[in-house]
Amino acid sequence: MTLLWNDTFINEADLRISKDDRGYHFGDGVYEVIKVYGGSMFTEIEHIDRLYESADKIKLTIPYTKDVLQKMLYDLMEMNNLTDGHIYLQVTRGVVPRQHFFPDEGTEPMLLAYTKEAGRPLEQFKAGVKAKFVEDIRWLRCDIKSLNLLGNVLAKQEAHESGCYEAILHRGEKVTEGSSSNIFGIKDGVLYTHPADNFILNGITRRVVLQCCDEIGLTVIEEAPTKERLLDMDELFLSSTTSEITPIVEVDGHRIGSGSPGQWTEKLQATFEKKIPQKITI
Ligand code: PMP
Repeated sequence: MTLLWNDTFINEADLRISKDDRGYHFGDGVYEVIKVYGGSMFTEIEHIDRLYESADKIKLTIPYTKDVLQKMLYDLMEMNNLTDGHIYLQVTRGVVPRQHFFPDEGTEPMLLAYTKEAGRPLEQFKAGVKAKFVEDIRWLRCDIKSLNLLGNVLAKQEAHESGCYEAILHRGEKVTEGSSSNIFGIKDGVLYTHPADNFILNGITRRVVLQCCDEIGLTVIEEAPTKERLLDMDELFLSSTTSEITPIVEVDGHRIGSGSPGQWTEKLQATFEKKIPQKITI
C-alpha cells in the first residue's frame, strides 16, 4: 500500500516512524477519517476544514494549504485504487526529544495518511445496534479531534465487553455523545441532540443529519437530553463517518420505542443515502 508521508508518497514497507514523535509521547496531534464512496471522497472540504480548525486549537500549523492537502489525498486514493472505504489522516507536532513544552518553531509536523478498503455496514443500518451508558470522563475540549482518545477507548471497551456497539457518554445526567459518534433522540416528532460546544465533537455526519432534518421537516432542538429522557425517546440513533446513521434499539437492556428502527430514522437514512456519491459504472 502507498502512504502519504508528509508531502511524499512512499511504500508502507518504507515507513520509519521515530521513537521521538510527539504523537507517541503525548498523543500530541489531530486526525480525520474521510469516507470514500465509489471512488469519491464525501464531505472532504468539511473534514479538511475541521482538521485545520483542530490543529489551530492546539496551536499546530499544518505546513500545506488545504488545496494541496486535498489534491494529495485524491492522489493517494487513486494510487491505492480505493473505491469504497476511507482515508485516515493524522498530523503530529513532530519529532523532538521528549519534553512537555512545544518544540522550537522550525520543527516539522509529521503527516501520515493511508487508505482502507471497507464496505458499508448495511445490515446494521437495518437492524440497529445496542448501546450502554458510560460516564463521560474526558477532558473539556472534546470539540478538538485530538489523537488523545483514551477516554473514548475506555468507554468503547466497556460497551464492547457488554456486547454493545457503542457507549453513550453522559456527564452526570446529561448525555453528550457516543465514544466515536454523535447521539440523537426523537420524541413526538422532535429531534434532540447535544449542542455543538466544547463537550462534543461537531461531527461532519451530524451536520449532514441536521441538513437532512431540515429537508424532511423534522424539528431540531440542540439540547442535551438527560439519561432518563433518552430512554424514553421514540427513536434513537448515532451518526459517524463510518457508521453513517445507525439506529440504536436498546440501551442498558431497555428497549427503545418499538425495539426496531423508527420511521423518522429510516426517513433520515433515505435522505442521507441520496447525498452519497454514486458509483460510476461504465
Ligand atoms: N464524536 C466522536 C467522539 C467521534 O470520535 C466521532 C467520529 N470521529 C464523531 C463524534 C462523529 O464525527 P464524524 O461524523 O465527523 O465522523
